[in-house]
Amino acid sequence: MRDFTQGEVRREFDEGFPGVTGTQRITVVGAGLAGLGAAYELVRRGYEVTVLEARNRPGGRAYTLRSPFVDGLFAEAGAMTVTPGCHYTRHYLTEFNLALDQSDLVDTQFGFYTGSRYVGSDASSISEADLGLNDEEKGLGAWDLRDRYVKEFYTELMPDIAQDSWEPSERIRPFDQMTVWDALKGRGASDAAIDLLEPLFNEMTGGELRACSALSWLRLESGSHALGNSQGWAKIKGGTDMLPRAFATRLSGLIHYGKPVVGIEQNETGVRTTYLDGGRPMTILSDRLVLAVPFSAVRRIDLSRAALSAEKDASIRRLRYMSIVRVYLQMRKQFWDGTNIALSTDLPIKWVRDATPHQAGPRKILEAYVTGWRARMLSAMSEEERVQFVLDQIESVLPGARENFEVGTSVAWDTERYNEGGFILPEVGHSDLMPTIRQPEGRIHFAGEHAGYEPNGGAMTFALESAARTVLEIASTEVAA
Ligand SMILES: Cc1cc2nc3c(=O)[nH]c(=O)nc-3n(C[C@H](O)[C@H](O)[C@H](O)COP(=O)(O)OP(=O)(O)OC[C@H]3O[C@@H](n4cnc5c(N)ncnc54)[C@H](O)[C@@H]3O)c2cc1C
Repeated sequence: MRDFTQGEVRREFDEGFPGVTGTQRITVVGAGLAGLGAAYELVRRGYEVTVLEARNRPGGRAYTLRSPFVDGLFAEAGAMTVTPGCHYTRHYLTEFNLALDQSDLVDTQFGFYTGSRYVGSDASSISEADLGLNDEEKGLGAWDLRDRYVKEFYTELMPDIAQDSWEPSERIRPFDQMTVWDALKGRGASDAAIDLLEPLFNEMTGGELRACSALSWLRLESGSHALGNSQGWAKIKGGTDMLPRAFATRLSGLIHYGKPVVGIEQNETGVRTTYLDGGRPMTILSDRLVLAVPFSAVRRIDLSRAALSAEKDASIRRLRYMSIVRVYLQMRKQFWDGTNIALSTDLPIKWVRDATPHQAGPRKILEAYVTGWRARMLSAMSEEERVQFVLDQIESVLPGARENFEVGTSVAWDTERYNEGGFILPEVGHSDLMPTIRQPEGRIHFAGEHAGYEPNGGAMTFALESAARTVLEIASTEVAA
């Protein structure tokens, strides 16, 4: 089977997959964006597609919470931002006539809350707060520190760090053997500076600075998904779930909800998939299968007769995911000063933000976006305990929270049965793992954010890109089928 490069996938996709057509029966496991993207493109090209989805909704981590809120308020539990570099996401938004609005993460009123006081991100506020910066760092603001330790770092590694196709050169490969923490320490950053910097690249490291590959992080920071560069960032108007729902409408009748796959077998002639239907095991036969499920959830599927290579087996067991908990509190009214606040605190919840800065009505939703060990702690709480804990914490930063609180909810991605984690955590050595993760195994093809060409997770566009790759892989087998 052909091994497609990132550039080839992009070109074939942009040209509408010229010449791709087939009649094979394809089972797609998972109706997240990767599974939906693959199913949508294959159906249009003649393939006989069946999608098996464990949950009762499409979208997986593209998930908008509309309940228990009132007044039409909603909040994103997973994906929320579409950057200018989200090529595949933007393509489908245009195709399905879905509109974009400016991201809530643009023009935030960002600051720190540390030692029971508010500290702005500018140089004089940080200097006044005396947080323990070293002599070289004194007098710098948070964004200056970012320039010093992040921008200057990846700029020195240009052009290698920003090459089109991700395959580390000898020059940058060593950074894949060190953590973000060690790399920053190696540049002379004090602990206090790292604390101030971390929220500015929170998404990538997810609180896992001591595990995340410095190379993966630098790659992200040098590209259009970097948190430090929010220019052109957008969100899907009306909620992120509009995108998976648009796919699902077009695949109506082909997606079977509430059907968790529990086993996959393959031989030279086909694939046999076992799934549960109302608690009863059922099987479906197909020529090929697209496994569009995160590896954390794949680990629960019996693959002992799937004839996978030892390398694939090891990568399925090894890939880690970020721990992320998002807690939402609906407030009767805005009781704090400022608009679109985003606070990085030294509390166990870390982030507090206004999750509805541009939604209409007097009510608001405050969100705690919690990652890493803090998220693992919150994951161990019951839903009720989690909401109460976050409310108590927020009260100490924004007095009046308790008085205005109406209702709360949360999503702990570690405990979501069909995810068991947020997005991928590219650990030290991740660049060696990547080709194995996406490599097809016989009649089984691997799609999903984790199976992208880029070493960073956390983007719908990577899930959709991986779907496009599986379409080309399947088409390349058509003659031999
Ligand atoms: C907190 C958070 C914030 C994020 N922020 C952004 C952002 O701002 N912008 C952005 O672009 N992306 C963001 N992402 C990432 C984005 O949501 C994901 O990369 C993308 O949605 C992943 O799609 P996927 O199809 O690979 O996986 P998923 O969405 O996880 O889909 C997998 C599907 O497989 C199903 N499944 C699992 N096991 C089985 C089984 N045994 N049988 C059948 N079905 C099964 C699941 O139910 C699910 O529907 C964020 C993610 C999280 C968690």
